[in-house]
Amino acid sequence: MTDHHKPHGAELLKEAQEHMPLGVADSYRYWGQEDTVFVKSVKGCTLTDCDGQEFVDFRLAYGPIILGYRDRRVDEAVIKCITESGTISGFSSELDAQVISLVKSLCPHIEKMRFANSGTEAVIGAVRTARGFTGKNKVVIVEGGFHGLYDEMMWKSDVDNWNPQTQAAPEVIPFGAGIPEASREHIEIVPLNSFEAIDEVFERVGDDIAAIVIEPIMGNCGSISSTKEYMQKLRDVCDQFGALLIMDEVKTGFRVAKGGVAELYGINSDLTTYAKAIGNGYPVAAFGGRADVMNQIRFDKTGVTHGGTYTANLIGLTAAKATLTILKETDALETVNRVGGEIRELLSRVFTKFGIEHRFSGPDAMFGIHFGNEVPQNYRDWKKTDSALYVRFAHNLIKNGVMLEPDSREPWFICEAHKDIDLEWLEKVAVQSMEDAINAD
Ligand code: PMP
Repeated sequence: MTDHHKPHGAELLKEAQEHMPLGVADSYRYWGQEDTVFVKSVKGCTLTDCDGQEFVDFRLAYGPIILGYRDRRVDEAVIKCITESGTISGFSSELDAQVISLVKSLCPHIEKMRFANSGTEAVIGAVRTARGFTGKNKVVIVEGGFHGLYDEMMWKSDVDNWNPQTQAAPEVIPFGAGIPEASREHIEIVPLNSFEAIDEVFERVGDDIAAIVIEPIMGNCGSISSTKEYMQKLRDVCDQFGALLIMDEVKTGFRVAKGGVAELYGINSDLTTYAKAIGNGYPVAAFGGRADVMNQIRFDKTGVTHGGTYTANLIGLTAAKATLTILKETDALETVNRVGGEIRELLSRVFTKFGIEHRFSGPDAMFGIHFGNEVPQNYRDWKKTDSALYVRFAHNLIKNGVMLEPDSREPWFICEAHKDIDLEWLEKVAVQSMEDAINAD
C-alpha cells in the first residue's frame, strides 16, 4: 500500500481495536497495524479501499465472487425480492425447490439437498447426516484442508514443526485455544494423495469411519489437487467399508466447472457441501447428495436434526437462483477459466524472465502458484516451496494495485468480470513486483 494510504486505514484500525479483538471481524483480516485493509466499495473485479486506492482483486473475498462484485443481474433479483417478497418468513417458499432443481441440473449426483448459511454450517450438516446414516463416528480429513470453524474440523497436523527424522507423523494440534480435546476423539488426519496413509487409517479404525471429508482441490492449500487415482481410491475404500465420501466443494463448487470437482474428476461423492460461488457473494450455502442418505434428515428418534432460523432465507436463495441461472445459461465459467489461463501464462512468463522455477496447481478458475520445481502433492510438499519469495511478491503486487492474499496457500480467484482487465498492465506490475521481491531478498 502507498504511504499516502497507510494513515487512514491505520486510524480506522486503531478505532476498531477499541471495539473488536484485533480490530477486525475475522481474525484472518488482520494484516498488521499498517497493512490491514479497510474497504470502501467493490465493483466488478475491483476493490476500492478507504483512501480511494483501487485494486484489481484476485482474492475475491476468499472465493464467493464468480461473476463479479455487485453483479447487476443478481443484485436486481435480490432488490426485487426484498421490496416485493421480503427477506425471511420462517416458512417454506417456492424458491427452495427451484434452487435445488437448478443445482441438480448442474450437478447430477445431487439428488436431495438442504440449505445452510455458511460453509461451516453446511459441513456440520453433512457430517451429522453421514454419522446418522452410517451409525459410525470417525471422520477422516486431509492435511492442509479447511472445513470451517466447527470444533471437530479445527484439528490439524502440525506440519510446520514436524521433524521427519524423529517423528513418524506430525503431531495433531488444535487451530487454537478453546477447542475441547474431546472434539479430537473421532478425527483422523491424512496427507493428500497418500494411498498408504488412507490404507493405514482404514485398517486401524475402518469399521467406525462415517466419512472422509475432502477438498479434492485444496482451495485452502494452494489448490494442491488430489490425483484422479487418489479420488478413485477414496471412493473404493468408502464403498468397501460403508463410509461416505463427502466432497467439500465450498470453494470449488460452481467455479471449477458447472458440476464442480465431481464433474472434473468424474467421481461422485455421497454428500457434497456448497457455499461461496453458489450465491456470488450473498450468504447462502447447502449440502446434499444421495437421496437415501439425505432422507436420514427426519423427525423420528433415528433421524438427523437440521434447520436454522435463517436457513433458506429469501435473500440467499434469490441470489443463488439468479447466480445458478446465469452459470447454467451463459458461458460465464468458460470465460472465467479462459481468463484464468491467460493470467497464468502471463505470470509464468514473468517468473521465467527472472529464472524462477515455478509450478501451478489447480484449475484456471482458482490456481495456486508454487515457487519450486515440483507440483506439490500435499501440504508437506508445499512446505518445501519458496513461500517467502511468494509473500514478498504478493506484498509488492498489493502495493502496485493488485489485491491477493499474501500467502501462497490461498489460490488466485478469477471471476467473469476479470475479462475486462488490462493484461499488459498486469504483466508490467508483475514484473516490477517480482524485481523488487528479488532485490529485497
Ligand atoms: N469449507 C471450505 C473448503 C472452505 O474454504 C471454507 C471457508 N473458506 C469453509 C468450509 C467454511 O466456510 P464459511 O467461511 O462460509 O463458514
